[in-house]
Amino acid sequence: STASRQSLRIGLIPADGIGREVIPAAKEAIIALGSDIPKPEFVDLIAGWECFTRTGVALPEETVDALKNDCDCALFGSVSSPSRRVVGYSSPIVALRKEMDLYANIRPVMSVYPSQKPSIDLIVVRENTECLYVKQETQQQGEHGREARATRLITERASRRIGQMAFELAHARPRKHLTIIHKSNVLSVTDGLFRETVRGVPLLPEVNGKYNDVEIAEQLVDSAVYRLFREPEVFDVMVAPNLYGDILSDAAAALVGSLGLIPSVNAGDNFVMGEPVHGSAPDIAGKGIANPLASIRSAALMLRRLGYIKGADRLDLAVDQVIREGEILTPDLHGKSTTQEVLAAVLKNL
Ligand code: ATP
Ligand code: MG
Repeated sequence: STASRQSLRIGLIPADGIGREVIPAAKEAIIALGSDIPKPEFVDLIAGWECFTRTGVALPEETVDALKNDCDCALFGSVSSPSRRVVGYSSPIVALRKEMDLYANIRPVMSVYPSQKPSIDLIVVRENTECLYVKQETQQQGEHGREARATRLITERASRRIGQMAFELAHARPRKHLTIIHKSNVLSVTDGLFRETVRGVPLLPEVNGKYNDVEIAEQLVDSAVYRLFREPEVFDVMVAPNLYGDILSDAAAALVGSLGLIPSVNAGDNFVMGEPVHGSAPDIAGKGIANPLASIRSAALMLRRLGYIKGADRLDLAVDQVIREGEILTPDLHGKSTTQEVLAAVLKNL
């Protein structure tokens, strides 16, 4: 649909907390790209916890319909979740990934400064639709008190397509190295299926030898975390089931400094949605000091996947320059500047 329209229609879902501060900043950055993007048009959409408390639904049908019928891509902010279970509420981002079939979450993590040692330049490719996130939990009274159980679903189909996405990314990078993350020494059936299926991707007839140049490694998730902290430079692309991917990407984020810097995209075969890795940050929400760089980078990732390479490169360069100069940064990066001031610095570099 992107090609058939004269404009690029971008759904904006700021949702909760600092999402409302950083998504508008990303919008401004996209607008500033000018003719590198064919007439961006923005569609304001609602979802989240505040939406739930106001309307009774966390993800309104109109939001999903608009994304499906009226948008080429989207930017999502962050949702706050209640700490206790609330009847009727479940995370709209999980539902959205399912509705739009965004089966991959792609999170590049890079050293902030080129001179930083050890140098980190990796991508975590996280399966986005299954694993423990199917949220089938039960609780019953056992002989010695309550017993709670959760179902973990791993399918061949989901493992194969996330594997294909990961191989494609690894194939396109200079190092062409893919690490499959699992815990099949304990979960031999579920993680065994994941590992075996991903390993089988290069052998698929339709792949036709394309990924033969990708070097494949494997690592148990616990030792992968250890290794990530000891020698992060060994990793290039990492592919993992949902929960391990979640933990790994937050851990990797810690290595490069602030969560306020790490972008992601949720990608499927037909839609892409940028989303900063950080949450709604209730501790700083509304203060005007949230770091907008993760969201601007998420916009760049989204544009890159849509093929707007020049626009994506310009955004990334503008962000890198702000970080490197180190003058205008938000408090999470030990600066004194506001969201608006950091945005202005990015716009100036554009
Ligand atoms: P949630 O429940 O919404 O995931 P959380 O408690 O997990 O929230 P995050 O939002 O992920 O918290 O943030 C963790 C910490 O990092 C908080 O102290 C927050 O202030 C900080 N932080 C996260 N994102 C940013 C940002 N964009 N700019 C500045 N600080 C941030
Ligand atoms: Mg969080």
